Order: sequence, then C-alpha cells, then structure tokens
Amino acid sequence: MLAITGVEICCIEGDTIIIDPPKIARIGYESSLWHDLGGVRRVSVDGGYLIPGLHDSHTHLAFSSAVSADLRFVRDVGELVAVMRRHMERVRRLGYPYVVGRGWDHEIFPSRAMPTIEDMDRVSTEHPVIAVRVCGHLAVVNTVMLERIREWGLERKYPQYIIREDGRPTGVIVEELLWEVIGRLPPPPMNFLINYTIRYLREYASYGVTHLNIVSVEERHVPVLEEALTKVPLVIGLYPHQRAYETVKSRARKAVVCGIKMYADGSLGAETAYLREPFLSGKNGEMLISRSNIVNALELMGGEGQLAIHAIGDAAIHNVIKLVKSLGVSPQRVRIEHASLTPPEVLKEITSYRPHVVVQPHFIISDWWADRKLGKERARHLYALRSLYSATKVYGSSDYPVEPKNPLLGIYSAVLRPGIGSLSPGEALSVDEAFAIYSRDPCMGETVLMEGARADITVLSGNPRKMSPHDIPSIRSLATFVGGSPVYVDESFVSGLSTS
Ligand SMILES: [Zn+2]
Repeated sequence: MLAITGVEICCIEGDTIIIDPPKIARIGYESSLWHDLGGVRRVSVDGGYLIPGLHDSHTHLAFSSAVSADLRFVRDVGELVAVMRRHMERVRRLGYPYVVGRGWDHEIFPSRAMPTIEDMDRVSTEHPVIAVRVCGHLAVVNTVMLERIREWGLERKYPQYIIREDGRPTGVIVEELLWEVIGRLPPPPMNFLINYTIRYLREYASYGVTHLNIVSVEERHVPVLEEALTKVPLVIGLYPHQRAYETVKSRARKAVVCGIKMYADGSLGAETAYLREPFLSGKNGEMLISRSNIVNALELMGGEGQLAIHAIGDAAIHNVIKLVKSLGVSPQRVRIEHASLTPPEVLKEITSYRPHVVVQPHFIISDWWADRKLGKERARHLYALRSLYSATKVYGSSDYPVEPKNPLLGIYSAVLRPGIGSLSPGEALSVDEAFAIYSRDPCMGETVLMEGARADITVLSGNPRKMSPHDIPSIRSLATFVGGSPVYVDESFVSGLSTS
C-alpha cells in the first residue's frame, strides 16, 4: 500500500490517494483518512496535480528511428545533406549498412523544392541513402539505393511509384514502394532495439502517459516490446498490419492485440490523400483499400477486434464509411485514423455512423502550409475537432514519429490551434475536452479516478485548468503509476519513491 499526499486531485475533493496495487483504495483528505493510513507508506508530492493516466491512441514503434537521422528540424537541402553525412559516420561505426534519415519537410525550405537524387549522391556515392519525408509517404534516395531497388525487383513491381522527370528518376519514391523498401532495411541488433524501446516507453511515462495504442505493428516488434515492458510496464494495445496479425497475436503476452491497421489513402503533405476535388496542384490520391481487403481483415479477426483505418482525405473518409456500413460492421469495431478533412457532408456521415475517430491535434501546427495545398475555403474544414467531438467518440494521439510524443503539446494545439491560417477558431476544444480525448483510447477505454479503479495515474507539475493554455507545454509529470506501481519518478521533486 502507498499513499500519495499533498496533491490537488482532478475534479474530486481531496489531497490524498491511497493505492492498494493494482487499484485505488481511497481518495480523500489526509485529515479524514487517518484511520486508513496506519502503516501505509506516504509519499508527498506537494503542489502536484493528480489526474488519470494519459493515453496516446496512435503511435508507432518506429524501429527505423532507432538507426535514422532526425531531419525534422532541418531548414534547407544543404543542412539535410550535412546532417545525413554526419549520421553516416555514426551508423558506419555501428556497422549498419544503410544511411537513413526521417522527417524533412520541403515546405519549410526557402526554395520549397524537394531534395533530389543529386543531393542524396552528395551524402554518399558508395552507401545506399534514403531520406523519408515527415509524412512517411514519400522519400528521396541516392543512385546506390535506386540500384538496390532495381536489384530487389521493385522497379518492375511499382514502376508508377518511382517519380520521373523527362524519363529520368528524380530520386523520389512514394507509397507502397517506399514501405516495401523500408521493410527490407535490415533491423539493428536486438540490444540496440530493446534499449531504444525502453527509452521510448520511459519518455511516454515522463509525460504522464500510461496507455499506448501502437499501430502498424510487425512481427519483429513483439519480442523487443515484450522485453522492454518488463522494465517499463505501460498498458499497450497493438494494431498490427493485416499480414502480421496472426503472428503478432500468437506472440504478444503483456501487450494486447486490439485489431488490424489499414490504409485507405496517403497524406496531405505528399498530396496523396484522396480528395473529392484534387489538390490545387491538380494531384490527387486514390483509394488504397477495397471491399475485399476489409472482408479479409474481418475474417482474419473472426468476430472480434477493430479495424483501424487510416483515412485523411474527405473522399477516403466517405468511402471507408460507405464500405463498412454496407458490410454491416458495428461502429464500435471501426476506428478512423486522422479524419483530417471533414467538410459538412462528411461530418454528417460520421455523425450518423459514429465510428471511433483518432485525431492528432499537433498536425495543426505542422501542416501550416495546408491553405496553399487545399485552398483557404477547403482548409477551413481541416481538423474540425469540436465538430468531431460532438459527432462521435474522439481520441487524442501523436502519430509519433510524425509528431512529438508529448500529449501536452497535443492538448495545447487542440486548445489554441496555432498554425494553419484559415482554420476555423470555433473548432477549438476546451482544456477539459482536450484532456478528455487524451484520457481514453478505443481499445482499453478510459482511465478514471475512483475508488476501486485501476491506479493508472499521473501527478503533473501544475494544474492546466488554472493556467494560461500557452503554459501547458511546460507541464511535466512528477510521477506516473501503472497498476499502482511507479513507472516514472522525477526524483528531484519526489523522494522516497523509485521505479525499480
Ligand atoms: Zn500513423
């Protein structure tokens, strides 16, 4: 038994919570709980704000980030090349044979031009080089890598996904071809991955997160994750790709398999999202799944489990709802991932079907270029958080590594909506609503503060309801508990408690 004292408790009268792992035994004032506190170890977290554990309903265990350069903060092509060259030195010391980078966004380059095969050849003419755009749907490669793609027979398989100008490859590759290339990159050594995953889980715990839905899971993720969970035991739901569903299901122990992840379209950044009217450039995406894909996924899951379907463009969302409705799938079993562009007609379809909708409020900050791609009139209907919140069950997430893991940044973005110029301010969430969407997920449900509930809780460094929303990103977790056991402790604030 353990008592946390000296805290303000979210939405309940009291300053003390008594934990009898894995559950919350009592909540109240220390002065009135004296008869329950006899012999109980007390840990005081003065000034802390205790809330239910936070959830990230859509994150990736991006093993490729374990060996890739972070290009999210690169400001032009010259810097990109320089970062990749430094990274090459590091991975060569580790004995990793590919030079991989992730996260560049040409929209923030002064030229707004994408890097080219010539730029990538400046990184290396000897080793294969690939730099994936922030959206994960497009990459640029060097000549050696393009040669490798040919040797793998992928040029014949996906000729349309190698972008050419005047018949010559520009170095840009997209969609399924890119994913197959990524899938063929050799994994880093096992210990390297376990350490990476422990750091990944620990960082989440340091933001007060107790629950994760990890999507796009592959078979190779499972043994590593299971090992890392023995050190940092967060509550984990998995949504593997269809091809990996059965093996993931047979290998997962601590993590729970919740359903299957599918893609209905691409991204706004790469202009591969499927829109009713094309992008201003004239480009458009296409439907990447069919009725039979969905039927197969449902058969594979045999009457249980959820379909987590990535749908960003308004046409993709419309088609997904039409398909699952015509198949008679219960809305409880359908998650729409992203649901980025929802003009009134599409909102109406969401309202009548009521699927789970998993949003990433931080996209509002990152997609600041959206007006230019969609036109102001249409961009107003992006990230319609308030309308979605009133239409159906909405869940908050990061889509890490696309956006940062910290849910407080997502909450800040949902409330203040900085970024895209023409977004409707009426679509902001209140601080309470923003916390609500990060306190539940479609697989494991909601974390709550109540006697008898699981003690999945976190003590924040301040009360976001009593501060300017501008200050929300500066909040940290002082201690995070899963099933009553500490998974993260800021030892400079909390003494007498440790995670091991
Ligand atoms: Zn994702």
